[in-house]
Amino acid sequence: RLIAPDAESPREEALERALRPKLLDEYVGQEKARSQLEIFINAARGRSEALDHVLLFGPPGLGKTTLAHIIAKEMGVNMRQTSGPVLERAGDLAALLTNLEPNDVLFIDEIHRLSPVVEEILYPAMEDYRLDIMIGEGPAARSVRLDLPPFTLIGATTRAGMLTNPLRDRFGIVSRLEFYTSEELARIVHRSAGLLEVEMADTGSLEIARRSRGTPRIANRLLRRVRDYAQVKANGIVSSEIADAALKMLDVDKLGFDVMDRKLLLAVIEKFGGGPVGLDNLAAAIGEERDTIEDVLEPYLIQQGYLMRTPRGRIATLQAYQHFELPMPKHLSG
Ligand code: ADP
Repeated sequence: RLIAPDAESPREEALERALRPKLLDEYVGQEKARSQLEIFINAARGRSEALDHVLLFGPPGLGKTTLAHIIAKEMGVNMRQTSGPVLERAGDLAALLTNLEPNDVLFIDEIHRLSPVVEEILYPAMEDYRLDIMIGEGPAARSVRLDLPPFTLIGATTRAGMLTNPLRDRFGIVSRLEFYTSEELARIVHRSAGLLEVEMADTGSLEIARRSRGTPRIANRLLRRVRDYAQVKANGIVSSEIADAALKMLDVDKLGFDVMDRKLLLAVIEKFGGGPVGLDNLAAAIGEERDTIEDVLEPYLIQQGYLMRTPRGRIATLQAYQHFELPMPKHLSG
């Protein structure tokens, strides 16, 4: 699936790694997050201190993991990587934390999915570089305190709203990543094409960029599929016509919506009279998880103005009806 939130195979993961920019200067777009981080990184480095804890949030594929790697690299420290659901027991986190060198980065992806016990021991670690762990059980149990080296926690999450308040409050730097413009994505596609040795016309990268749902991961994914198409059908050179033909074959429409996007919008329009429809009903109607709808599908449709989230449920907008050339209901056409 083109808009799947994570790399879907080891091969794709390796390619993603290869295409990842390594330095802040190579990181395209996200001006706000970038300029903010540049200042904090320089200041921390100047004082030889650990960077303040960083929370990165935004839909999948916008560059949170990439940015975490870049921060570590720019700070000149090592990064250890884990994710919320993987840290089941307090000891899992303790093992990671006690292995850090001074000023290292610990990156926790999907940090909103930490278990409460793990989250509990993270608080003093973040605040005072201190670990309070229980050893033993029953009457013999006692608490042991360990000092940790100063470190930077970088947490990534698709929705900041899903973090508990005490956890969110412990991040000194909070950055929200935004969808990329077509021009920014065209620069990313151009750069990736260079790395993958794809012959690419500027119009070709812009065509791919426009249809990538504002998301670098999808842009790179489409680039690879378009490359295959071009190789077989057009001597390997990607023009806008070739990109368009390849994307059509992949069922990515002019707006960059794929099958799931269209299924969701059409369900709201055709099965629920344009809405409002609640998330659970919508999920059941299109056979998707609630979380996938909220984290992956909806954000872009909302940002682009095709879907609205209201207290009573999701509503298809006028634009959505126009996109599918469907007759508008009275409340929108009036
Ligand atoms: P997230 O962690 O937010 O899901 P990633 O950091 O894994 O996203 O990014 C997915 C892919 O998109 C990376 O492999 C990288 O090549 C590309 N990418 C992300 N952000 C940028 C950017 N700002 N500039 C260039 N490439 C990017």
